[in-house]
Amino acid sequence: MVSRVIPVESFDLVIFGGTGDLARRKVLPGLYRRFLAGQMPEDARIIGAARSDLDDTGFRDMIREAIDEFVSDDKRDPKVIDAFLAQLHYTPIDAKGEDGWDTLAKLVRKDVVQAFYFSVGPSLFGDLATRLHKHKIANAESRIVVEKPFGRDLESAKALNAVLADSFDEHQIYRIDHYLGKETVQNLMVVRFANMLFEPIWNAQYIDHVQITVAETVGVGGRGGYYDKSGAMRDMIQNHLMQLLCLTAMEPPSDFEPDAVRDEKLKVIRALDPVKPDSIVRGQYNADEDQDSYIAHSENPESKTESYIAMKVDISNWRWKGTPFYLRTGKRLKGRMSEIVVHFKEVPHSIFGEEAGSKANVLAIRLQPDEGMDLRVTIKEPGPGGMRLVDVPLDMTFADALGPEGADVPDAYERLIMDVIRGNQTLFMRGDEVEAAWAWTDPIINGWTSRGDKPVPYDPGTSGPEDALMLLHRDGRRWREIK
Ligand code: NAD
Repeated sequence: MVSRVIPVESFDLVIFGGTGDLARRKVLPGLYRRFLAGQMPEDARIIGAARSDLDDTGFRDMIREAIDEFVSDDKRDPKVIDAFLAQLHYTPIDAKGEDGWDTLAKLVRKDVVQAFYFSVGPSLFGDLATRLHKHKIANAESRIVVEKPFGRDLESAKALNAVLADSFDEHQIYRIDHYLGKETVQNLMVVRFANMLFEPIWNAQYIDHVQITVAETVGVGGRGGYYDKSGAMRDMIQNHLMQLLCLTAMEPPSDFEPDAVRDEKLKVIRALDPVKPDSIVRGQYNADEDQDSYIAHSENPESKTESYIAMKVDISNWRWKGTPFYLRTGKRLKGRMSEIVVHFKEVPHSIFGEEAGSKANVLAIRLQPDEGMDLRVTIKEPGPGGMRLVDVPLDMTFADALGPEGADVPDAYERLIMDVIRGNQTLFMRGDEVEAAWAWTDPIINGWTSRGDKPVPYDPGTSGPEDALMLLHRDGRRWREIK
């Protein structure tokens, strides 16, 4: 299979915070890989803009090191790296003052696509948007890319949306949720809407329940101070898991245009029932012999921030009434795994009798570690001795099914940045979507605060708190094993 790379138009991409962790670890290595794939035009330019007092050479040296560290050996070609670095520039800038803006205004070309990546903390989003506008650097077609977290509640998200809207139209604002850039997440839409097989049974009549899991083995480490203000609900559920839920549950959009898709996702969020306190389990990890507890990294020894959440979510619409979606995410768990798993119902009547056993079909869409899909189907156990049923996987790991070229899929950031240059907002969150997600999340978080709820402790290297197992047991269901 030969992958097809369609070059994008020429562009100037300004990365505010170009010297920061995200830019060095994800954004610039991602751009290098697109350059290597032949997607970046020769006259495209990437302009780092941050507080550090660097020049072009200093910035290029910094990014050379980042490429060495974060790009795999097989993709590091010294000649290609030199050519890529030659397209990099740097200008110091102060987001909160006037220094550097006139220089940036002279640097950015007016006759190519302009994109401004806000790879800085959200407290600077407003300053950057306002100054881009004031210094007439941006025009009516320029794009801005904003990182998570997009607010910490409905009020702050509305304020952020309002400050960006003062200088930019919604069609210019690209709110990144990198989960949407993952190959499998887009494949979920293709599986649903380009195959006749699934969509007719993609509803409460045939689907028993859906499980969405994002499990991490790492803890909060040095980010304890940041994480304490956030927690798993704000950091993972409100954005990444909600987005996965929306794509799994949404109605077929009329086409693959940005607003058609985002309208359907928004309808799902608006159809979510409020979540009762007994439908959520919050956890916080203990220490083990190798690593510290959550509390050890927190600035607050009494911290009630959750590093784990499991919850049952009901969707009140015709398609899903009666089919719960169970979401869970956590840190320091026994495996690193992200997946969406659709558990179909058992057949209404087994002609093979009770002794043959019965199995339900399960479709697992794996986001990581190895992106792919696995459908479990029921067959006869081979051999004599009557009819016994077993379920076997129809497994498709993209790397195996599509060969090395097909498995060599762009990283989420690579894809999303190229979508920004192309002007395609389908995989970015719209302002009203983000606000609706906070409107659903806020009462849950406010309930914990007003009741003084504490998360339950769990041991690292496990699947999370026992109570989370009970959440499904009481419904006669079981979580998939975290591996
Ligand atoms: P960082 O602290 O490593 O980098 C911040 C950058 O902003 C630096 O380049 C710094 O020079 C620049 N900066 C700070 N104040 C400035 C000012 N007044 N004027 C101009 N530039 C200024 O942060 P980061 O980890 O790269 O994160 C950036 C954003 O991306 C944050 O909003 C973060 O929440 C988000 N994010 C980061 C990651 C990650 O993996 N690091 C993942 C998802 C989202």
